[in-house]
Amino acid sequence: MAIFGKKYFKVELDRVERKDDEALWMKCKACHELVFKKKVRENNNICPKCGEYFFLTAPERIQLLADPDSFEDISRPIVAADPLGFVDEDGQSYSEKIKKAQEETGLANEIIVGRARIGGRPVIVAVMDFRFIGGSMGSVMGEQICHGMERAAQERVPFILISATGGARMHEGILSLMQMAKTSACRKKLADARVPFISIMTYPTTAGVEASIASLGDIALAEKGALIGFTGRRVIQQTIKQDLPEDFQTDRFAFEHGIVDNVVRRESLRDELIRILKFFV
Ligand SMILES: [Zn+2]
Repeated sequence: MAIFGKKYFKVELDRVERKDDEALWMKCKACHELVFKKKVRENNNICPKCGEYFFLTAPERIQLLADPDSFEDISRPIVAADPLGFVDEDGQSYSEKIKKAQEETGLANEIIVGRARIGGRPVIVAVMDFRFIGGSMGSVMGEQICHGMERAAQERVPFILISATGGARMHEGILSLMQMAKTSACRKKLADARVPFISIMTYPTTAGVEASIASLGDIALAEKGALIGFTGRRVIQQTIKQDLPEDFQTDRFAFEHGIVDNVVRRESLRDELIRILKFFV
């Protein structure tokens, strides 16, 4: 349910700016210190005073991980259609929501797929952007992820998925839930081609995406501070009528229960990927 060519544009990393960068200073939510935004951006969006992580946009993630000037956007030229004619409680239609998200983020979609090099090794990366309707997975994200996996299988290069998502996109109803099955089935093409799939889960990786493609990596990493789970803590607690452990759905919890293979600090993610890629190739 995507329209080819309409409202689609390629991402040029250098030209994507943050709209919220007009103010020079920001207050850190952890240490409550005033910090200079430019310093925060230069520091991979980590608080220079206390080390707290602020969220990264998809272009920032790519800049953090890929070799300089190695990225090329190969996303399919599609944007979401509005199959249900969905209108929010506040009267905003799904199409308007997409248009607004495009304006605010400078991105065509909630996910960017591209070719890149990491430590000199070629990869296909797919990176979600939480600012774009919560990085939710609708038919476009499903198609882009499959497109990326197919390319990786064809070119026989590792596929890296970086998740930042609230889950399935309710505005597309059942079509968004179908993407869980679609991406999971498509993942087999990587396995058949014997191409490694590295899944990196960040804050947050939840619901429909966590319950499908994000959990199907050959290697799964959590960025330190990640939230990984299916349903919110309160809902689970009310349903099973039991208390949950303090660290439920944290990076540490995911590691101790075998959901991820390692928890990696943001500063070390690139080095960790280089180490893993060296092992595979
Ligand atoms: Zn701080």
